[in-house]
Amino acid sequence: MEQIQRIQDVYRPVEERVKDVNEVERAFAAADIIPQASRCSNCGIPFCHGAGCPLFNLVPEFNAAVAAGDIRKAYDTISKTAFYPEFTGRVCPALCESSCTRNLNDEAVMVRQTEKFIIETAFAEGWVEQPQAAEPNGKSVAVIGSGPAGLYAAEALRRKGYAVTVYEKRPKVGGLLRYGIPNWKLDKSVIDRRVALLEKAGIKFVCSTEIGKDISAEYIKRNFDYVFLAIGTPNARDLKIPGREAEGVYLALDFLHGASLPGETNPERFNAKGKRVLIIGGGDTGNDCVGKSIREGCKSVLQVEFMPQPPETRSPSTPWPDWPYMLRTSYAHHEGGERRWNVSSKSFVVKDGHVAGVNVVKVDWEMSPLGRPLKPVEVPGTEEVIEADLVVLAMGFTGVPAEGLVNDLQLQLTPRTAIIPDPSRGIYAVGDCANGASLVVRAMASSKQVVGKL
Ligand SMILES: Cc1cc2nc3c(=O)[nH]c(=O)nc-3n(C[C@H](O)[C@H](O)[C@H](O)COP(=O)(O)OP(=O)(O)OC[C@H]3O[C@@H](n4cnc5c(N)ncnc54)[C@H](O)[C@@H]3O)c2cc1C
Repeated sequence: MEQIQRIQDVYRPVEERVKDVNEVERAFAAADIIPQASRCSNCGIPFCHGAGCPLFNLVPEFNAAVAAGDIRKAYDTISKTAFYPEFTGRVCPALCESSCTRNLNDEAVMVRQTEKFIIETAFAEGWVEQPQAAEPNGKSVAVIGSGPAGLYAAEALRRKGYAVTVYEKRPKVGGLLRYGIPNWKLDKSVIDRRVALLEKAGIKFVCSTEIGKDISAEYIKRNFDYVFLAIGTPNARDLKIPGREAEGVYLALDFLHGASLPGETNPERFNAKGKRVLIIGGGDTGNDCVGKSIREGCKSVLQVEFMPQPPETRSPSTPWPDWPYMLRTSYAHHEGGERRWNVSSKSFVVKDGHVAGVNVVKVDWEMSPLGRPLKPVEVPGTEEVIEADLVVLAMGFTGVPAEGLVNDLQLQLTPRTAIIPDPSRGIYAVGDCANGASLVVRAMASSKQVVGKL
């Protein structure tokens, strides 16, 4: 029998997608997805489900249902463990796929797109309903922050019969799903569709309201039985080198903001049109900045990374079924631009108050026996200037949450500056603010775990 191969090209053609802000991925039909799901061998120990997925999604079970053409059953299966497959089906790095047994001598089963297909079919068929709330238990909860952790906690609590109010300081619900991840990875109507169902289930959303500023933490403690902090990690890591104050040097989230919100535009200074863009930071956020620069018609875009280039294939330091340390090439890298590794930024070149480039030097890395970078060493004589009209800092988040609010609630921060909750007073912390900047799926899984214990 002919072996079914994993579909390689999941994106719309580059020339088409860079001209719009619509989702970069193709929508797959049943005829594409059903054979893909049938590649799942339902192996004896499904690492995708346990070691891979933080939500413990029943991946082999929903693959089997899809392979049998029973999408309703697949939807019912996925609904047992996950509330929002439409988010993870679009943006999850698919930890399940990296732990798929087929990886051992073939390519992983295409799980993420299957998940998206199941939930989009479910919406199209009218199967997705508002969450069913249990009998009211007479207790109230304030959820502070409406990112994936806040939404997941709100729904899980509502299902248990709590009266839930979500406070969000931004004008709209969604956290980084809306104000970080660009529209071309997650169309914002997908968030609105889900929030409408949550509202129907009786969850109250109060936007444009910052707790600790517009409403005091004291008020929240007095008026609610429980408080769920889901405030994310709002502080981006900065690059405090000479010249940082120059015009034209921006944090990634400021630069990305307009890209995430169709119909809204960023101030002109954030627009990359005709500019030589330098992105400092080689992670996912930096990749999205590459995508934005290309969509806006930049003259050139270069992404630099301090760390060395990871190996093309799984490093021995991360054997299967671990999440592999290896080179990742995102949708944006297929769209254009260049990447460089081992680059240390020393100072900004400033002309008339505006950035004109960055002074950099090459670093070599001492490596561990298993090929992990241990210690950087600057290489004398490799100093150079990278010219740029716009520099974007995409170097992750410090993990320092809103200290004012944490103090007002008399909570503590760990040395990693994640929030230490105080369940004895009914105060819980979930998502990135509790665990450090991570992933949508982990933010949701953290809420699932905490609410599950209530
Ligand atoms: C550019 C970018 C791209 C990313 N891409 C991906 C990806 O492709 N896949 C993936 O899995 N992850 C991705 N991530 C990471 C992911 O978005 C986060 O891990 C996730 O959103 C964290 O969820 P959260 O609910 O804990 O926090 P957040 O999403 O940060 O939400 C916190 C919310 O709390 C609100 N808030 C804060 N303080 C207050 C207050 N005092 N009062 C009221 N509201 C408050 C904030 O306004 C915000 O809406 C990306 C992140 C960025 C920045």
